[in-house]
Amino acid sequence: MPDPFAWIDDEAATRAERGLTRSLVPFAGSSPEQLDAGGRSFVAFAANDYLGLAGDPRVAEAACDAARRYGWGGAASPLVAGWRTPHHELAEALAAFEQTEAVALFPTGFAANQGAIAALVGPEDAVYLDRLNHACLIAGARVSRATIRVYPHSDADRLEDLLKRDAGRFRRTLIATDSVFSMDGDLAPLRDVVDLADRFGAMLLVDEAHGTGVFGPAGRGAAAELGVAERVPVRVGTLSKALGSIGGFVAGSRRLVDRLINHAPTLIYSTSLPPAAAAAALTSLEILQAEPWRREKVRGLATELRSALRAAGLTVGGADASPIVPLIIGPADMTLAASESLRGHGLLVPAIRPPTVPAGTSRLRISLSAAHETRHIERLTRLLIETARASHWPALANDSGLTDPVQSADDP
Ligand SMILES: *Cc1c(COP(=O)(O)O)cnc(C)c1O
Repeated sequence: MPDPFAWIDDEAATRAERGLTRSLVPFAGSSPEQLDAGGRSFVAFAANDYLGLAGDPRVAEAACDAARRYGWGGAASPLVAGWRTPHHELAEALAAFEQTEAVALFPTGFAANQGAIAALVGPEDAVYLDRLNHACLIAGARVSRATIRVYPHSDADRLEDLLKRDAGRFRRTLIATDSVFSMDGDLAPLRDVVDLADRFGAMLLVDEAHGTGVFGPAGRGAAAELGVAERVPVRVGTLSKALGSIGGFVAGSRRLVDRLINHAPTLIYSTSLPPAAAAAALTSLEILQAEPWRREKVRGLATELRSALRAAGLTVGGADASPIVPLIIGPADMTLAASESLRGHGLLVPAIRPPTVPAGTSRLRISLSAAHETRHIERLTRLLIETARASHWPALANDSGLTDPVQSADDP
């Protein structure tokens, strides 16, 4: 009999030819910004640890305490016996932080988005998605079996056209968008989107995975920064990015949260978070509120890096203060070569390639943290400009050329 898995080898060969193969690298090191591998140390710009809390000893200590007190495993669905004291305390604290009535917890942010969408719409309904939404919003829409409408990135006019055309055709409608786009670092046009949701009577879900802790007054997210948080009835967040732990949540009304507890498959049929992960996230939430300097620092570093790269003629995307700084190169192989060259200099900056981003827009995704220092940013800037000069990135073709690199004396 022929090998029924032979197709895997064929597809792997095609993927390799296109420079799109990915693999796992085990890193040691005490924080996501300082990683060790193969006897070398790296400064990493690769995590979503915006506030530097994933490696914070107070957060680790909170997890250890809770693990000793409650055991490690969540052991059961939250609906059976998996909802423990730390989960309840975290949900209450998150609801207060988000200024909503209630919060539902999920095993991950992915599960929160997927489960919330599946609990709100079904085959008779429609979901409107930004083309660059995170994969889990698309997964949720697919699982729900609702009709999916995709609008061009951040194009509220096109969204309006679609809503107009569909008026009266569906039982319920849901608009779902990232607030800060994960590979681009830009903000959704949330003021327009909330207006459209109101005008067309649509439900609205905003995924603040990269907004929480970084944007808005007190770090309440991008919707709060744009002054529309109260008009976003379904606010999704993750505990795994700025909050440095693991897990996801949905903040909203009591009736919304009760609906999720009864109808979100990823909450009902999955084991609860380890109580220690909830305790760690609660400590992070307290630090986030007590130490606003973290948010200010990472936003300052992002602004610094963007302006230095732009001044050098490089193509950089995203909102000025956004800690996700995409440097667009274009072809996947050139992007990978740039990432490898930086790695040779002790800097880890991931190459993001299709299918994560559209073909021809491969990029270095520089991710900043309050755990980085100005000297790290200066070194990164200098090496990026040197790499750009030595290569011929198509994304540079229309620019006037590269100016002098930033000079820094204190390389690590
Ligand atoms: C990372 C991410 C998620 C998933 O969150 P996890 O907690 O890592 O599962 C959801 N939405 C967006 C926009 C993300 O970037």
